[in-house]
Amino acid sequence: MNKLILFFSIILIVGCGSQKTQNSEDATPVSYNIPLTDPVKPSAKPKNVILMIGDGMGISQITAGIYSSDKKLSLESFPVIGLHKSHASNDLITDSAAGATAFACGVKTYNGAIGVGPDSVAVETILEKAEKKGMATGMVATSTIVHATPASFISHQPSRKMYEEIAADFLKTDIDFFIGGGKKFFDRRESDERDLYKELEAKGYFISDYFKEDLGDVKIPMKKKFGYLTSDKDPLPVAQGRNYLKKASNMAVNFLNRKSPEGFFLMIEGSQIDWGGHANDANYIITEMLDFDRTIAQVLKFAKQDGETLVIVTADHETGGFSINKGSSRDSLVTAFTTDYHTADLIPVFAYGPGASDFAGIYQNTAIFDKMKRAMGMR
Ligand code: MG
Ligand code: ZN
Repeated sequence: MNKLILFFSIILIVGCGSQKTQNSEDATPVSYNIPLTDPVKPSAKPKNVILMIGDGMGISQITAGIYSSDKKLSLESFPVIGLHKSHASNDLITDSAAGATAFACGVKTYNGAIGVGPDSVAVETILEKAEKKGMATGMVATSTIVHATPASFISHQPSRKMYEEIAADFLKTDIDFFIGGGKKFFDRRESDERDLYKELEAKGYFISDYFKEDLGDVKIPMKKKFGYLTSDKDPLPVAQGRNYLKKASNMAVNFLNRKSPEGFFLMIEGSQIDWGGHANDANYIITEMLDFDRTIAQVLKFAKQDGETLVIVTADHETGGFSINKGSSRDSLVTAFTTDYHTADLIPVFAYGPGASDFAGIYQNTAIFDKMKRAMGMR
């Protein structure tokens, strides 16, 4: 009898021990078949944080990308995976404004809200907090730079449709680097006579159209901040020739890394996976998904070499109720959609680098803000 009690006691102790290890911030991430390992002590705090958002990128979008690619996707190499609950404050189905505001500000808000809470009052964003801390900051998107996702990191407006007001909010920050579309909201405004290109230049930004044809040749003076608007309105889909996300993200990482000894915060968005979902166009989804994944590979390469960079990849929500159905093969997916809008699916979160283990589990989308803040040592 005594032996039996002793036996159960041992099991209990062992059980508690492993539980504690998995929940501890210092724990090595649970992982299977992974080429990437943390090159730093797991307890170390990251110097840089890169948040990558694939707009509308649910599990099926990722699955379609995986089965459409000859090579393994870079998403398959992440050591830590979690899931977030994407809902808005007023709707189980979020839009991209409320979704990005949850990541940027840590608050659940109403659909359409840009960097404001449910009461429409401005909430400081993680990008603004990083600026205050002396970190360099940047954003790269394949939508306009004033579109809901990037806007929620830098602007505070009651509605996502206020593109010109959002553009003017760029002048209220000291963001060091931005690339995306939407030039006309800066230099040909309808609501006022302001030329925000000129105002940005007066504020120390290096802005020019001269390098429009080849982003790779840009030499940015280190004393300057950098802004580049890739198109008047929405940038093209990658299938129609857009080809800047990987290059722009690489430029952003290198520029911001040299810019600040205090580290940097960078948001990169693969904006148009969502637009493929709205269009119920599987090929659009897959080409944008693979473009985003190539960019992730580039970022992971930097993070692995650097050793002090936390990389988080997630989506704001799923779009299209996309599914892969009976009759599919790797060469030919049979796909279907249940909606031309977003769904309430749980959304995957991938993390690599110091602080990554904090991103395992199931949590609210707002927890991503809390976890990034904690990783950056902010209150
Ligand atoms: Mg977006
Ligand atoms: Zn959408």
